[in-house]
Amino acid sequence: MSETYDVVIVGSGPAGYTAALYAARANLDVLVYQGFESGGQLMLTSDVENYPGYKDGVTGPDMMDEFEAQAARFGAKMRPENVERVDFSERPFELWAEGEDEPVLARTVVIATGAKAKWLGLPGEQRLMGRGVSGCATCDGFFFKDRRVAVVGGGDTAMEEALFLSKFASEVLIIHRREEFRASKIMLERARRNPKITFLTNTVVDDVLGDESVEGIRTRNLETGEERELEMDGFFAAIGHAPATGVFEGVVEMDEGGYILQKENTMTSVPGVFAAGDVSDKRYRQAVTAAGDGCRAAIDAERWLEEQGEAEVAEDPAVWTAEKDRDAANL
Ligand code: NAP
Repeated sequence: MSETYDVVIVGSGPAGYTAALYAARANLDVLVYQGFESGGQLMLTSDVENYPGYKDGVTGPDMMDEFEAQAARFGAKMRPENVERVDFSERPFELWAEGEDEPVLARTVVIATGAKAKWLGLPGEQRLMGRGVSGCATCDGFFFKDRRVAVVGGGDTAMEEALFLSKFASEVLIIHRREEFRASKIMLERARRNPKITFLTNTVVDDVLGDESVEGIRTRNLETGEERELEMDGFFAAIGHAPATGVFEGVVEMDEGGYILQKENTMTSVPGVFAAGDVSDKRYRQAVTAAGDGCRAAIDAERWLEEQGEAEVAEDPAVWTAEKDRDAANL
């Protein structure tokens, strides 16, 4: 017989694990489908220095291990599987893990499958990931103080990444495959006026060079065919992001880029289905904002279940915490 959970969370980045932590602490039965690549984008991040509470920084994988252990401590069950198919047409909702015939049943669902930076697909990109190759200037820009970095892309993301990097790096080279830019005029002008930023157009990057860390890039001019090797300390792919929402296409409403729309607080177009983190956030894309969103989704799911008469009315989570701690202290 299929198992039924109060909350099934799909995804195991900061949003998914935080939703699991809050839902489990609210005494709900929680299952997390972690996916085969559990931990999300942070598993590709070496040092995280901007997550509050870690004053000396922490590696992305260590932080995700702690997130998982904290949610598991309160009873959230973990399954390291991908969800392959869902049916949200009626409740309880049905979710099928890859290779499973029987669905898991869910009274509510939190979608926290995240988004991924798009990569160029170069051999050196994967090899040097987290060792000079990055898809997030806000996360890693600080490590490039007085260094030379290349940014690939011609949209707003590329301009924004380059502008952010110019606060640290000695030189920022934007490499774009065309002469015309997709970026908004204002962002492009801002980048053009920045003395640290230079442009290389009609050019593609054929590889990122280096053994232990990024040492350079190989470029090719698309008009002349000329190939060059440029010394670089960092390489940022800024050609856009793609949300991991394929499984939910046609099931919940999305924008034209495939990001899930939060219609009322974190609730999607399907009542009882919530979205949290980068899967519905094109703007902030930070571990801490994703975690905050996971908390909101869990509280929304719990209150929604209460409204359906399917969960006990809980105290405000903060009050509940204080009472529980006091009870524990009296034991
Ligand atoms: P985008 O506008 O789609 O631009 C992607 C850029 O990457 C394009 O210039 C594209 O080149 C290039 N590109 C794509 N695939 C490539 C490949 N394989 N090799 C080399 N270059 C490649 O994506 P985005 O910049 O991430 O922006 C997405 C949306 O978010 C936009 O609506 C943007 O305005 C918005 N956004 C806004 C802000 C802001 O306002 N502060 C910041 C970031 C993003 P082509 O031009 O030749 O296709």
